[in-house]
Amino acid sequence: MYKYNRIAIKIGSNVLTTQSGTLDIARMKQLVDQIAYFHNKGVEVILISSGAVASGRSEITPRKKLDSVEVRQLFSAIGQVKLINNYYELFREKGIVCGQVLTTKESFGTRRHYLNQKQCMEVMLENGVIPIVNENDTISVTELMFTDNDELSGLIATMMDVDALVILSNIDGIFDGDPSLATTKLIREVNPNQNLGQYIQPTKSSFGRGGMLTKCKIARQVAKEGIPVYIANGKTDSILVGIFSDTTKTYTKFLPCEKETSSVKKWIAHSQDFAKGSIVINQGAKNALYGNEAHSLLPVGVVRIIGEFQRHDIVTIIDEDNQSIGVGKVEFDHEKARLLAGKSNQKPLIHYNYLCLY
Ligand code: GLU
Repeated sequence: MYKYNRIAIKIGSNVLTTQSGTLDIARMKQLVDQIAYFHNKGVEVILISSGAVASGRSEITPRKKLDSVEVRQLFSAIGQVKLINNYYELFREKGIVCGQVLTTKESFGTRRHYLNQKQCMEVMLENGVIPIVNENDTISVTELMFTDNDELSGLIATMMDVDALVILSNIDGIFDGDPSLATTKLIREVNPNQNLGQYIQPTKSSFGRGGMLTKCKIARQVAKEGIPVYIANGKTDSILVGIFSDTTKTYTKFLPCEKETSSVKKWIAHSQDFAKGSIVINQGAKNALYGNEAHSLLPVGVVRIIGEFQRHDIVTIIDEDNQSIGVGKVEFDHEKARLLAGKSNQKPLIHYNYLCLY
C-alpha cells in the first residue's frame, strides 16, 4: 500500500507540549495512533522524539538557583522517564512494543559505536519494536550536544537508510515570506539545488532548541543522500496519514538526489563534526585526490599532522591554503602518521574507500 517500507519520524518539543509547557498527551495519542496504523501495515517506523526537558519542567521546582546546564540535566532526567512512560502506555494500548534508545553526538564519532547503535535498532525493528530515540540530555552538555534533535534525526535517517524522514514541528513547512501575511505561500517542494536562504527566519522554537534554519540544513543533507524529507505540522490532526496517503499537500518536501553513497562513506561524510585531528596535504596530493582515478591519501603527500587521533578515527583533510577539503578514516594513529609524513613507498594513510572529499 505504501511506497515506503521504513520511515523515520521526528517529533519536536513544540508538538508535544501545551502552551503552558506541560506534556500534551492527547496530541501524543493522536501521533501514536497514526504510527500504529503504519506499523500494522508493515511499515517500519523509527521515532525520534524530543520533549524530555519540556516534560520535566512541570514536575519539579529546583530548590536553589541552577545554571542552564544543571536545569537541562535535571529536567531531562525526570522528563525522559515521563515521556517514555507515556509512549510505552500509548503504544501498549495498540498492542505495540516500543523501546528507548538514548544517544550522544560522540556515539556517532566512532565506527564501532555507530554500528552498535545501528545494530540495536535493526534488532528492534526485526522484532516489531518501535525505537524511540532521543539525545541523552543528562550527559550531553554544551559542545558535546547535537545542535538539536533535527540534527539527530538526520543522522538516524541516513544511518538506518530509511525511505523517508518526516520532521514534525508546529508550523506547516517553509513559507515564501511572513506566514502571518495572506499573500504568503507554503513552498511545497524544494529541489536539491534550490536556494531557500531568502525565506528562512533564524528564529528558534519556544520549547525546543531547533529552528527552521537547522531543519532546512538537515533536510537538504538527508535529501542529498537520496532520502526524501518532509517538514510538516505535527499539531495538524492525521498529518502523517495525510502525507503518506497523498491526501494532504500541507508540507514542504525536499526532493531527494539519486542514492549512491556506500554506508561507510555515508558515515564518514556525516562525521566532519567529530573529526579528532587534521592532516595537511601538499598540492600534488590534492591533485591526485581530485584526479579522474580513485586515489588513496599516501603519506608522501602529507605536510603536517595536527592534533591527536587513534587508528580508525575520523580526521579532516586540509590543503596548504588551510582549506578543509574533506574527511576520512585514518589507518594510523597520530604518532605513526607523524613519523610517516612525507615518506614515499608507504601504505595509504587514508584508503580511497574511507575518504570523502567535499
Ligand atoms: N533532547 C531534547 C529534549 O528531549 C530536545 C532537543 C531539541 O529541542 O531539539 O527535550
